[in-house]
Amino acid sequence: MGEIVPAEIARAIAAQRKIVTSACVICGTTVVGLKTRRYCSNTCKQRSYYAKHVEEQRERMRRRTREKRPGEAADPEVSAETGSVDAKLPT
Ligand SMILES: [Zn+2]
Repeated sequence: MGEIVPAEIARAIAAQRKIVTSACVICGTTVVGLKTRRYCSNTCKQRSYYAKHVEEQRERMRRRTREKRPGEAADPEVSAETGSVDAKLPT
């Protein structure tokens, strides 16, 4: 008796994980999942990443803009502040 079976331990640990309903930290959409789940979608995850690295992103934009010759049309990607977040995440 008392034999330790790894699969049973894993099952017991899995049973401890509670599925909860919470709100997405970015948009407030109801999210059902593990307690650690914070975003409703990949979009919100990327928005969060962008918000955390907004200074880095801006600096990158500035550098890109500076590299352009004067008189050239502005890079359409610089319109990040209008809300169309298209952050490129390392996967
Ligand atoms: Zn969301």
